[in-house]
Amino acid sequence: MAHIEIVDFLCDGCGNCVDTCPMVAMYMEGGVAHVQTEFCDTCGLCIPACNRDAIKFVEDDE
Ligand code: SF4
Ligand code: SF4
Repeated sequence: MAHIEIVDFLCDGCGNCVDTCPMVAMYMEGGVAHVQTEFCDTCGLCIPACNRDAIKFVEDDE
């Protein structure tokens, strides 16, 4: 399995990912995006929505 992470220092707070996420799993706080992983279904749609390449799939440890 994998989960989504935001690279904080790359995020410029544009909000595109929040608008794109069909699961409403993303929110803005402190000027950067965050993911509520319990709502995320790892569809990946937020990744191309980010012009800053700040959203990554990260493999979970077994
Ligand atoms: S992977 Fe899909 S469900 Fe998860 S945060 Fe991104 S857009 Fe939302
Ligand atoms: S789309 Fe990228 S730069 Fe914009 S708020 Fe989301 S993570 Fe940050």
